[in-house]
Amino acid sequence: MALQLSRSEALFAASREVIPGGVNSPVRAFRSVGGTPPFIARGEGPYLYDVDGNRYIDYCLSWGPLILGHAHPEVVAAVQEAAARGTSFGAPTELELEMARTLIQFYPGLEMVRMVNSGTEATMSAIRVARAATGRPLVVKFIGCYHGHHDSMLVSAGSGSIDLGVPDSPGVPAAAARTTLALPYNNLEAVREAFARHGESIAAVIVEPVAGNMGLVLPKPGFLEGLREITRQYGALLIFDEVLTGFRLPGGSAAACFGIDPDLVTLGKVLGGGLPVGAYGGKRRYMELVAPAGPVYQAGTLSGNPLAMAAGLAQLRVLQRPETYPTLEARTRRLVQGLNEVLERRGLPYRARCLGSLWGLFFTTEEVVDYDTARTADTRLYAKFFHGMLRRGVYLAPSQFETGFMSLAHTEAEIDATVAAAEAALAEL
Ligand SMILES: *Cc1c(COP(=O)(O)O)cnc(C)c1O
Repeated sequence: MALQLSRSEALFAASREVIPGGVNSPVRAFRSVGGTPPFIARGEGPYLYDVDGNRYIDYCLSWGPLILGHAHPEVVAAVQEAAARGTSFGAPTELELEMARTLIQFYPGLEMVRMVNSGTEATMSAIRVARAATGRPLVVKFIGCYHGHHDSMLVSAGSGSIDLGVPDSPGVPAAAARTTLALPYNNLEAVREAFARHGESIAAVIVEPVAGNMGLVLPKPGFLEGLREITRQYGALLIFDEVLTGFRLPGGSAAACFGIDPDLVTLGKVLGGGLPVGAYGGKRRYMELVAPAGPVYQAGTLSGNPLAMAAGLAQLRVLQRPETYPTLEARTRRLVQGLNEVLERRGLPYRARCLGSLWGLFFTTEEVVDYDTARTADTRLYAKFFHGMLRRGVYLAPSQFETGFMSLAHTEAEIDATVAAAEAALAEL
């Protein structure tokens, strides 16, 4: 059962001539699993269709945003209607007010919010606000957490950069990297020590409250509470980077799921319904520092643009229906239980897990709690499994160190077909 990818191969070769590595974002190139990435022609519901006519059940979902699946009719209609009225105005619109109010209603403790165009912009801007609010230079992040590709966050940044083996990218000035303290995830002792030494200089702790960019790694009980306590004690801000977890955890956010009140939060991915969107927000006293209300400069030609707002609002409207989260969570659990039954039947010592509509499977017997334990996973085994699944029409993230996603478009039929494919793929390992 070989996968026919001749047209994708030709397009990839041509793309490599004119686009670095043939892709516009590194992990898409399949470097860590090998082979040619299928070039995608279209998506529909839970399915991706490539240019060679192959169909895949998609668990990558554009790396998270497509929580309703591909080309959801209500999202498509909203974008079409908005486009017909004009794609961008560079002037305020009612849609932006509706988006801000929707987010404030959705996210516990959120008082003001600013729209941007990506998760990277959101974290970059939130960190700027934290530095301005505290007058301090340093930011604590966690090793293996990804907060976008701006200079100070490209330190031990997980995701694509793990696989490239360049956690610290050339081109990042040492002076920028030195403003970042990278500590092990789930390790409050390390946080306490860092604050004991540098507490007067630390503006913020930024964290993925559930880590999704080194594979799915859950916070240990007490970790997030500890971060809240330590940052309060030292007058530093706590930034929840919920670009990946936003709208995907039980209750919709880590703030709701774990009952923690961060000072600032960043959102993206699901928020944009598949269009380029990010947002940062938080307490009024911090957000009022942002220009033109305050002196912290941050701007964007296309920020809050009507297509992105319309797509995002349409998606969030569907998500607000009462049956949505229980359904998403039940489907994710069904997949994980199915995978675990197969693993057990085959005598393999690995187990999948999930939270909300996020799921993950590490090929390691160690309990994964941080970057070091994640790195014990057998990436060659993952690559084989990945290609076994791809050949059987299941599109997983092309790296061991990414999170699996679920959409409302995945029915029990697709999930059961995925489990059957996994049984056959695992039999080949
Ligand atoms: C994807 C991601 C980002 C970056 O978002 P982009 O839109 O790719 O810039 C930031 N933080 C987290 C947690 C992410 O998962």
